[in-house]
Amino acid sequence: RFDVLVVGGGPAGATAAIYAARKGIRTGVAAERFGGQVLDTMAIENFISVPYTEGPKLAAALEQHVREYEVEILNLQRAVKLVPGKDVVEVEFANGASLRSRTVILATGARWRQMNVPGEDAYRNKGVAYCPHCDGPLFKGKRVAVIGGGNSGVEAAIDLAGIVSHVTLIEFDSQLRADDVLQRKLKSLANVTILTSARTTEVLGDGQKVSGLTYENRNTGDIHTVELEGIFVQIGLLPNTEWLKGVVDLSPRGEIVVDAHGQTSVPGVFAAGDCTTVPYKQIVIALGEGAKASLSAFDHLIRTSAP
Ligand code: FAD
Repeated sequence: RFDVLVVGGGPAGATAAIYAARKGIRTGVAAERFGGQVLDTMAIENFISVPYTEGPKLAAALEQHVREYEVEILNLQRAVKLVPGKDVVEVEFANGASLRSRTVILATGARWRQMNVPGEDAYRNKGVAYCPHCDGPLFKGKRVAVIGGGNSGVEAAIDLAGIVSHVTLIEFDSQLRADDVLQRKLKSLANVTILTSARTTEVLGDGQKVSGLTYENRNTGDIHTVELEGIFVQIGLLPNTEWLKGVVDLSPRGEIVVDAHGQTSVPGVFAAGDCTTVPYKQIVIALGEGAKASLSAFDHLIRTSAP
C-alpha cells in the first residue's frame, strides 16, 4: 500500500511524485504513457530557465529525475476506476490490477480535440499547432489560421494577430460563439479575416510543412483554398477524466474541481495539471500544481493516522 499514489506521468504527475518521495513516504506513479503531452511536443521555449528544449528530451529528463528517488513507476497502466474509502483509496486499472493508497493525486492531463481531416496528423508540429501561448512566436510575421470561434479560438486569434502578419479565423457555425467583448476586439483588428459557416476540409503541405488549407463554404458547398504557414486548432481541450465521472466532482467541461490546495471533492484525493479547473494549461503551471497537490497530500497524511 502506498502513502501517495500518483495517476499520470506528465509534468504534474512527475513533480507530485518527486515532492512526495522527498518526504520519505511510500510513493508510486501509475501512468499510461510516462511523459504525457510533452512527448508530442517539439520545440519548447517557455520552460523558464531553459531557453530551448524539445518534448522527448524534457520527457526523458522528467522520468530520470523521478528515478533519482525511491518511486515505484508503473508505466503503461491505464486507471479505469477510483474507489474512495475512509482511510484508503483504491485505483483499479484496465489490466485488472488494483492499487491501494492513503492518498491519491490525479494528474491525467488532457488532450486537444482534433479536426480529423487529411493532413492534420502528418503536419502536426510542422505548422499544425494547438497552443498559441507555446507556438505563437514560432509564426512571427507569417500567415496563420485559427480553427474555432469559441472563446479560446477568438482569444487565440487576438493574441496571434499581434505576432503574425495575418490571421484567418474559421468557424463552422453561422456565427462566432465567443463572448461579445472578445468578438468586438477581434473585429477591430485590421489583419484578421473571419469566415463563418466554413468547414475545414484538408491541411495542405509541401511534404515538409504546412502550405495552406481548404475549407468548404457550408452555404454554397464551394471549396476554397487559403495559403498560410500555420494552423492553430482551437476546438476544445478534453480532460482525461471520463473514468472519474460520478466519483469526483467535475466541472461542466469535465475538469476535476480543485480548491486552492489541489483538494478534490473526495477526502484524500488531490489533483493537478491540465485535468483540473486551474486555468491556463502549460508545463510550468502543471509543475507548480503538481508540487502543490503533493504538499497538500503530505499535509493530509500528517493530520490523519495510518489505518
Ligand atoms: P499531461 O502531460 O497530459 O500528462 C498526463 C499523464 O496522465 C500522461 O502520463 C498520461 O499517459 C496519463 N494518463 C491519462 N489518463 C490516464 C489514465 N486513465 N490512467 C493512467 N494514466 C493516465 N506547454 C508549454 O508550457 N509549452 C509548450 O511549448 C507546449 N507545447 C505543447 C505542444 C503540444 C503539441 C501539446 C499537445 C501541448 C503543449 N503544451 C505546452 C502543453 C503541455 O504539454 C501541458 O500543459 C502539460 O503537459 C500538462 O501536464 P500534465 O502533467 O497536467 O498532463
